Amino acid sequence: MISVSEALARILALATPLDAETVPLADAAGRVLAQDVTSNITQPPFTSSAMDGYAVIYSEAQTGMTLEVVGESAAGKRYDTTLNSGEAVRIFTGAPVPEGADSILIQEDADRIGDVITVRENRDTKKYVRPAGGDFAKGDVVSAPRRLTPANVALLASMNIANVPVMRKPVIALISTGNELVMPGEVPNSDQIISSNSFGLKALFEAQGASVRIMPIARDTSESLQQAFDLAKGADLVVTLGGASVGDHDLVQSVAIENGLELDFYKVAMRPGKPLMAGRINGAAMVGLPGNPVSSMVCGHIFLRPLIDAMLGLPATPLLRETGVLGEAMQANSNREHYMRAIAKPSANGWTVMPFDRQDSSLLSVLGDADCLMVREANDPARAIGEPISFIRI
Ligand code: AMP
Ligand code: MG
Repeated sequence: MISVSEALARILALATPLDAETVPLADAAGRVLAQDVTSNITQPPFTSSAMDGYAVIYSEAQTGMTLEVVGESAAGKRYDTTLNSGEAVRIFTGAPVPEGADSILIQEDADRIGDVITVRENRDTKKYVRPAGGDFAKGDVVSAPRRLTPANVALLASMNIANVPVMRKPVIALISTGNELVMPGEVPNSDQIISSNSFGLKALFEAQGASVRIMPIARDTSESLQQAFDLAKGADLVVTLGGASVGDHDLVQSVAIENGLELDFYKVAMRPGKPLMAGRINGAAMVGLPGNPVSSMVCGHIFLRPLIDAMLGLPATPLLRETGVLGEAMQANSNREHYMRAIAKPSANGWTVMPFDRQDSSLLSVLGDADCLMVREANDPARAIGEPISFIRI
């Protein structure tokens, strides 16, 4: 059995970066930028007003002074003449500031009668004038790699980037195994259960940026597993679910090896998730997850989210661990790192982490109520309430 950190390092070493593709900007959110993008334009393209008011010459717009309103500059239609001494131009947010003007008198600070304004006070210390290029300039770069946020998409739009180079989504073939499994929507007989993990993992992997194909459920026979491996060909990553322990019906490893699996490791010192395996199979990466629903989901977070990031060319790092305080006393831990389903509650001294009483690895209802995994190191001694503890948000 290897440690969780060693297993993660070995899984990350299986990642081969994918190629890039171009997508329309409207489809770019959440995708990973594949190469630096350079702006062709400057924003704002002209000096513009941040407020509704009057474009003025600052020294001529002090309390009690009067100015003549000679025209208007609106967003999309500028005032084309240079402002002269004694003049003001009515201006609106986003409109070009006319030549000659150096500040904006906001409309709340002016009394207007006909075409004459009297200055009540001038609060502009140049902050209502937005200089050309104040946001970004032609030649400025959005650097890759990065997962594009909604804000990034808005920035690329404003840089006039209509098509975006992104990493191709890794294709993951997900193979559930088990004689007892039927698909959601089917009617199980008295010995059957619904295949749940595959759907949870599909959602998890897609949220991380992968494209997931759920394969037909493989039965616990060599022939059926063989068929599933055949169908999974062409995927960048093959993930199997279940059949990975040492029971009579656990055939995944032997059939995978017949199909070319170069096994890298089997078994990790963690709870839940001990019977994890990984390796390379015909040019693809393969990870065999345990069948228990919570085990597979926990392993999906801990190992496969970083793996998908690595395939997408992002920095491959373990999930962020935060530090909270224990909300409950704990007995000494075993020699396996324990990922306990828990809730992190805000409290005066940061986050108080409350593990659930029931930690069986089959309990999806408990996992569904958890918002974090509380991490207990292997061989961690007994702990008292209030001691520091790491947790990972899920
Ligand atoms: P296994 O590793 O195949 O022995 O599976 C361990 C446990 O997880 C068994 O109780 C299985 O019924 C259950 N299990 C395996 N695969 C799935 C699945 N796709 N959905 C729900 N439960 C599963
Ligand atoms: Mg099974």
